[in-house]
Amino acid sequence: MSNQRTHQARARFGQNFLKDLSVIDAIVRAIAPKEGDCMVEIGPGLGALTEPLLVALKHLTVIEIDRDLVKRLRQTYTPEQLTIVETDALAVDYSELGERLRVVGNLPYNISTPLLFALMAYADHVRDQHFMLQKEVVDRMVAKPGTSDYSRLSVMLQSRYRMRKLFDVDPQAFEPVPKVTSSIVRMVPLPADRPKAKDEALFAEVVQRAFAQRRKMLRKALGDWTPLLDWDALGVSPTDRAEQVSLEGFIRLSDALTERLPSK
Ligand code: SAM
Repeated sequence: MSNQRTHQARARFGQNFLKDLSVIDAIVRAIAPKEGDCMVEIGPGLGALTEPLLVALKHLTVIEIDRDLVKRLRQTYTPEQLTIVETDALAVDYSELGERLRVVGNLPYNISTPLLFALMAYADHVRDQHFMLQKEVVDRMVAKPGTSDYSRLSVMLQSRYRMRKLFDVDPQAFEPVPKVTSSIVRMVPLPADRPKAKDEALFAEVVQRAFAQRRKMLRKALGDWTPLLDWDALGVSPTDRAEQVSLEGFIRLSDALTERLPSK
């Protein structure tokens, strides 16, 4: 890719450009773009994914923060092919980009967790998401209770998406070569009748509190909420640690607190 030689990768924007054509092909096959899909690519960079996606889609919306890369994209593609949103992907109102969005991207690793949380707010507008992230982050996203990877990220994202890790990508597939292995993950929003807490903000707080001290038993970690809970009725043990509690267990804890705590 001759472009790469003339663009100095910026670490502050998490720039590691895909160069391995077989990996690019595998990612695009996993996404399976179809003409008419309303697709948004976060961080198109030098276009490694943009180019093959456009072959199938004919039109794509991209969000890119780097002014120099935006300039290149404008020189390379017509406005009919590419709608370029030149901004921070964390600040975008995704509901304005269309319905049944298909969101894709080799994400800048430095903002991957906040971006995943920001996108959760738009899950009702999303058909699916395919992301490349650090393997370690993807392992946490899909982790099951009772494993050391099971974390706040697992519970929060699993409450909103069905997720599947598709495959790992070697650091050598990128230029510059990152220090870590990456993985591709597919995220499909769960339907409206998914198990859901009555108060989603409180649910997020319960999960946050429980994992903030993940080595402590729940009765310690939940602090002043502990005496409010009828643990036996909830089927959750006060001596469990956060990593042993299922998504449904966290929902039951949160719903019990919704009834006991004075409303805000
Ligand atoms: N898609 C390209 C590829 O696979 O080669 C580039 C991927 S690179 C890991 C991440 C891209 O996201 C870069 O183009 C970077 O400039 C862009 N980026 C970084 N932070 C961003 C942000 N906050 N909002 C939008 N784009 C961002």
